[in-house]
Amino acid sequence: MKKINNYIHGSLESNTHNYLPVEDPSKGEKIGEVVLSSVKDFNKCIQSSAKGFNEWSTFTPLKRSRIINNFKGLVEKNIDEIAKLVSEEHGKTLDDAKGSVIRGLEVVEFACGIPHLLKGDFSQNVGSNIDSWSIRQPLGITAGITPFNFPAMVPMWMFPISIACGNSFILKPSEKDPSCPLKLAQLFSEAGLPNGVLNILNGDKEVVNMLLEDERVSSISFVGSTPVAKYIYQKSASFGKRVQALGGAKNHLIVMPDSNLEQAVDGIIGAAYGSAGERCMAVSVAVAVGDIADDLVSKITKKAEVLKVAPWTDSSSDMGPVISREHKEKIESYISLGEKEGANLIIDGRNINIQGYENGYFIGPTLFDNVNKDMGIYKEEIFGPVLSVVRVSTYDEALSLVNEHAYGNGTSIYTSDGEVSRHFTTNCKIGMVGVNVPIPVPMAFHSFGGWKQSLFGDHAMHGEEGIKFYSKLKTVTARWPKSIKSGPEFKMPTN
Ligand code: NAD
Repeated sequence: MKKINNYIHGSLESNTHNYLPVEDPSKGEKIGEVVLSSVKDFNKCIQSSAKGFNEWSTFTPLKRSRIINNFKGLVEKNIDEIAKLVSEEHGKTLDDAKGSVIRGLEVVEFACGIPHLLKGDFSQNVGSNIDSWSIRQPLGITAGITPFNFPAMVPMWMFPISIACGNSFILKPSEKDPSCPLKLAQLFSEAGLPNGVLNILNGDKEVVNMLLEDERVSSISFVGSTPVAKYIYQKSASFGKRVQALGGAKNHLIVMPDSNLEQAVDGIIGAAYGSAGERCMAVSVAVAVGDIADDLVSKITKKAEVLKVAPWTDSSSDMGPVISREHKEKIESYISLGEKEGANLIIDGRNINIQGYENGYFIGPTLFDNVNKDMGIYKEEIFGPVLSVVRVSTYDEALSLVNEHAYGNGTSIYTSDGEVSRHFTTNCKIGMVGVNVPIPVPMAFHSFGGWKQSLFGDHAMHGEEGIKFYSKLKTVTARWPKSIKSGPEFKMPTN
């Protein structure tokens, strides 16, 4: 049975006997244990991160870029092993796990451009013989707290950019699938990263609180559920930290009557049921506009019913289990709630039985029709393979649904009408928007982040927003002695 420790100053270690079980969700069996860091672990980690920062922040951006590039090569070389670690502890299919590592690597590629990204602005003659320039400097020790659903990709939204900016980074991964982040940190050391620049501190909310409260930590990046994101945002801000806290989601996909229905259905199936619906950009609400609803529901039903639910070891699996028994029960209770609320349960994913995996946390694709905006299954994030179809008569009603919902992570519209598409992309109150694209996850050189209850803080992740988050702006105004007139100046200088 594997013991998953911390990775501090280049060594795997821990100073406690407290561990939490790590499970294989396909079998519902314990396969390892992860350390619950103690105060001693925490202090050691902070000391190491401070040393790491002192050394690393003196590296030129070009030198940092070369080491980050080495890391990219090592992740590529080890991608099969990394994807396997993700699938074993998360349960998602191997192809999906590999895809998520590659999306994380795209942020690493972006971070390799750090010499260009940090080159700053210069203005000559802002006043007579006066020049002004802006530079971005590192924050110091930065920290990230990540969710279970993307143990490789979400940490890679954070640490490559923070480290590229010259900071040290402490990652507190999800306690449910912590092996992959540990491997990534070891590979970064192998790539030439000095000890202490990337430390992994495992544990649960206790160690998170230590990070939020310690004055030596400059910034907190968080991705997870909305109640925790809100707490992290408020508490970090009260301790004077820079904070970005990304929360949950309820993403709508609008199907207009003029859309290509086959394409919309394919988009919905992959986006609602891929990764067992455990994606913050999953589509959980399909909004059928006008008279296409019956056709849409019947087409979704046909395709959803034949999806293969199986463990990741079966290469023909379309979706694996959900993360834990507790989460499975929560999703099942939402399915019961939908029935009680009067939604029409077309496909029921409960009571699925996979031979040899009877104790696994599997739930099959689930489909509700005739869901309305007052129902709990519509308002709340379920984070499982449960799709709700809401029927509306007009585009305006569909837009209102999207805009009135508490979450604002992602949305998408399927249409062949450019006017409607333009109106939607301009007027929806959502951070990431797709047009005939079901999961509009921005590329690494753009930035990822929602609106409303899906993001607390000012900066989205990666892209230029990431650079801004992980660096402090400084503006210098300078002139040289010969150009200075003698005598004090009492009025505001104007030019
Ligand atoms: P979670 O909020 O339970 O946990 C996230 C992290 O916070 C974990 O590392 C956990 O140890 C820590 N944590 C949990 N409770 C805490 C507490 N009370 N105090 C301090 N720290 C705490 O989320 P999860 O179940 O791991 O992940 C699923 C959630 O993440 C979903 O809501 C999903 O929508 C969201 N998510 C959002 C995005 C996004 O970009 N907006 C991306 C991925 C996942």
